Amino acid sequence: MLVKAYGAHAGEKPLEPMQINRREPAAHDVQIDIAFCGICHSDLHQVRAEWAGTQFPCVPGHEIVGHVSAVGAHVADFKVGDLVGVGCIVDSCKHCDDCETGLENYCDDMVGTYNFPTPDAPGWTLGGYSQNIVVHERYVLRIRHPEAQLAAVAPLLCAGITTYSPLRHWNAGPGKKIGVVGIGGLGHMGIKLAHAMGAHVVAFTTSESKREAAKALGADEVVVSRKPEEMAAHTKSFDFILNTVAAPHDLDAFLVLLKRDGALTLVGAPASPHPSPNVFNLIMKRRTIAGSMIGGIPETQEMLDFCAEHGIVADIELVRADQINESYERMLKGDVKYRFVVDNATLAD
Ligand SMILES: [Zn+2]
Ligand SMILES: [Zn+2]
Repeated sequence: MLVKAYGAHAGEKPLEPMQINRREPAAHDVQIDIAFCGICHSDLHQVRAEWAGTQFPCVPGHEIVGHVSAVGAHVADFKVGDLVGVGCIVDSCKHCDDCETGLENYCDDMVGTYNFPTPDAPGWTLGGYSQNIVVHERYVLRIRHPEAQLAAVAPLLCAGITTYSPLRHWNAGPGKKIGVVGIGGLGHMGIKLAHAMGAHVVAFTTSESKREAAKALGADEVVVSRKPEEMAAHTKSFDFILNTVAAPHDLDAFLVLLKRDGALTLVGAPASPHPSPNVFNLIMKRRTIAGSMIGGIPETQEMLDFCAEHGIVADIELVRADQINESYERMLKGDVKYRFVVDNATLAD
């Protein structure tokens, strides 16, 4: 079926209205009428061909929420009308060690929601800036938030799980001192989630002007990382620091804030490498630098349920489809609190 979408025909061209084809639902497929789709920084990198391998036309979007509008004959867990979400993953091999342990995000054959190979025309996946999407039931998430919050739930599907998964893996919770570096789309979710998990949360920002905003999000303390005396006050005190900043920067400044066995985990994807850290800062206190990429399907469901239970959604600015290009420019300037979400109903205008 042909549906309306918003995408680009080349890396140097703006996004524009287009029509794309969606497959008819197969036995295990769920067809979703998309209500809202968050705008992730990855969307911009991919559609502008700043990352290698972008296929055109490119329709980004992997923070998808909406209603089930059809199901295949063998789908038992979803029915028409259900509130559901789709994140960064729409398929994987389903039988490797990663898939069998519910970590489809690390499957070598993971199929991302856009720009990954698929048998469907045109040969690569097309994402959530579109009226609907058809996805295998395994990769469809149930949303238990009130429907009125649906737009603000969308960013949980990437920004939420990208921060939730490492916070859980490194045991954020009561009695733990957790740092969150960067207060943007990812960081603002990291602060909310770590706070809800019961940790003592310290937000790091380069900008004095974000101090009050970070406290409002749930930070117990805020450190302006450009102020050496503020940084020094936290030396050797953190169990875990979640670093959401993608721009290359000095990792040593944060490593020295970890106590023995502490971990600094990176979730931002820099276009060029960070300066190499001083290995002595790792050796001296058995510290770790790690990375983490989104999360598996069971963990994404767990995150959505945790957020529904704790009343957590993203702070968003709702935009029309014809404002996507402008939203990208504002996102590049950091002019968003904290996530743009597209109202997909405006695709029909
Ligand atoms: Zn994303
Ligand atoms: Zn697999």
